[in-house]
Amino acid sequence: MFDLMIRGGEVVDGTGRPRFRADLGIVDSVIQAVGHLAEASAARTISADNRVVCPGLIDVHNHSDGWMLRSPHQLHKTAQGFTTEVLMADGISYAPVDAQTAPQWIAYLRSLNGLRFDEYRGWESLEDYMQLLDRKNVQNSAFHIPYANLRTLACGFGRQRVDDFQMRQIRYEIQKGMDAGAVGVSTGMDYLDQWYASTDELVAALSVLKKTGGVYATHMRYKTGLMAALQEAVEICRRAEIPLHISHLKPLGEIQPDEVLSFIDDVARRQVDVTFDVYPYQPGSTMLNSLLPYDVWDDGALAALGHLGRTELRERFSRSLACQRLPLDQIKIAWTLSKDNRIHQGKTLAQYAQDVGKPAGDALFDLLQEERLSVLLVFLEGDDRKVFPIVQHELCLLGSDAIYFEDAATHPRAFGSGPRWLGPCVRDHRLFTLEEAVRKATSASAKRFGLSERGVIREGAVADLMIFDPATIADRATFDAPQQLPIGIEAVITGGQVIVEHNQPQEIGGDLLPGCFLRSSNSARHVAQ
Ligand SMILES: [Zn+2]
Repeated sequence: MFDLMIRGGEVVDGTGRPRFRADLGIVDSVIQAVGHLAEASAARTISADNRVVCPGLIDVHNHSDGWMLRSPHQLHKTAQGFTTEVLMADGISYAPVDAQTAPQWIAYLRSLNGLRFDEYRGWESLEDYMQLLDRKNVQNSAFHIPYANLRTLACGFGRQRVDDFQMRQIRYEIQKGMDAGAVGVSTGMDYLDQWYASTDELVAALSVLKKTGGVYATHMRYKTGLMAALQEAVEICRRAEIPLHISHLKPLGEIQPDEVLSFIDDVARRQVDVTFDVYPYQPGSTMLNSLLPYDVWDDGALAALGHLGRTELRERFSRSLACQRLPLDQIKIAWTLSKDNRIHQGKTLAQYAQDVGKPAGDALFDLLQEERLSVLLVFLEGDDRKVFPIVQHELCLLGSDAIYFEDAATHPRAFGSGPRWLGPCVRDHRLFTLEEAVRKATSASAKRFGLSERGVIREGAVADLMIFDPATIADRATFDAPQQLPIGIEAVITGGQVIVEHNQPQEIGGDLLPGCFLRSSNSARHVAQ
């Protein structure tokens, strides 16, 4: 007698091997049987005739840290089939912190990750934070150790060089994070205080991973140019002798996909163990405050707002905006903190400046002041076909980079990455077979980030699953209407519990939700578990 049986589906098991017809028998959270189970009975049976059954998707790059804590169910993610989120990307998150740095991070991340000051519950370590998510959410969560949090804990905010004493603390915190089950360390070189971290500093800090295990996952130093950023990321991992994972790798500006992939194949792969992720869209999304001069933040995020009163800063901002030659008519306001400015959500920056009747530099600087630095942008420029060769590459994993705000003009990747990857990317753009598409979003990610018994369908694995129609699965979110749930996905299951059916969140009985805090086996300490 099974608790749950999925009958008659085509199983795409996550390993990349061809699909096969089989029934799945699940007891509690575990897949107990895969095969012909016609004689068996179950408390509940789901028919999957003409449907594909595959492992639940693993999102290796996202901004769900705050949302996972705030709400037990992120429907925009689960409706796509994501059952696991690897949190704390880009080196910036809500842990580790102390009483001084916690409000700084909540302020800085307001337009990326959503938490408010009154939601801080006193956590400090990564272990504390992850424990708050364990069995409190319908999705599983794993985590990176975010580098900027360590740097600011050790030496405060600002441009100082890390001294030997502080470096010892950073290395100790990495060790501690790996002991807690991190997948590795993340950086975001265009974000707070990491812009001051030199290549040598990162090599010195990250070489701990050689001993502890763990992957270095990086949002590279794009402000130096894509190719220079790639070279630096490879250099860091070659010198530290650790594996490299590049977050949201895309061709940018004049640089074509071939140039990026030749570098990966001919240079990076020869020097380091490398993988990367991307979402299947060319245009990006980020915080408006990332256009400010770095020194605005040198006294921390809470003091930054005060600095915006300086006229000299306003002038520098305008000059820097002009020299970056940003296409302001191709960048949209996705979300603003205050309700007053919500009327401008969805407008381009050019339109916004025109509507408020100011030169662009002044308009955006004033907007940052009004919004306490919290404005999210979406870029409209770029043909998705440019990113397809990256998606197609055998080393590429799926990372949605989803940034969510309710009723906002956010990037459609937050609602559409998974179904676009399994539907249009397979059927219309013929980037890969369905089996390969699934592998790159499940078992390959689980393997890279040390998530044991996840991302695969076999006896003994955990029953994180999705059931969909391979002929119709598709994203519906667009840049004009970005908050649309997908079509073609029938059910999503975490740990043997059905969490979504036909885009409807399901009631879960009992106090404990099925999503677990997953400790990575990348950590030398957790290998045997
Ligand atoms: Zn990033």
